[in-house]
Amino acid sequence: MFRDITHAALSVIFPNRCPFCDGIIGAREYYCPECAASLRYIESGRAEPPQGLSELFACCGYSGAARSAVLRLKDGSYGYSAEAFGVMMTEVVGDNIRGYDALVPVPSSFGSILRRGYAPAEYIAREISRRSGVRVVTALSASVEKEEQKHLRKAERKKNARSSFVLYDGKNIRGKKILLIDDICTTGATLSACAKLLREAGAAEVGGAVFAKTVGRA
Ligand SMILES: [Zn+2]
Repeated sequence: MFRDITHAALSVIFPNRCPFCDGIIGAREYYCPECAASLRYIESGRAEPPQGLSELFACCGYSGAARSAVLRLKDGSYGYSAEAFGVMMTEVVGDNIRGYDALVPVPSSFGSILRRGYAPAEYIAREISRRSGVRVVTALSASVEKEEQKHLRKAERKKNARSSFVLYDGKNIRGKKILLIDDICTTGATLSACAKLLREAGAAEVGGAVFAKTVGRA
């Protein structure tokens, strides 16, 4: 509720924009209805979980308007995408969120945080947390400057993903059921690498939630 008031108040100064088409939207809206209707929703709200994850929630396929919004989030234009993704992901996960003890965002590299001014997955996780009451635990961090995944081939991605993350703070992980949060799942290598670290830190179970999932070739 408070969050919605803040969202509306800020929009007086900075008009809200739809992350899917960049059009101006109402103070209390997170996206325009036309764009929401154009997304290729995954009917079950679930996708094949990558190795090491018990389940994977996903809102829609990675194409069209969904792709534009993910790219806007990644290039750092603004964070409207994170809010919209958080709203939609909370809806898709639904009551299943009650089974989870904590949300862990997939970490961004330090370089990309400096470039964008924010960590996309953390923004999304905080939005889901505000709506669900499940807390965010930033348990993982990028190890070294990781290569941007999209420039790498599949085999390289897998290798790169494994060495890209480290356990930053494992004290709230042991025995807990963790929901990993990211904007997109392509090969699943990133989520698998993160899940492995969390299980090694004692997590009882690791699931995942993403906004978009690629189907077929990434
Ligand atoms: Zn739109």
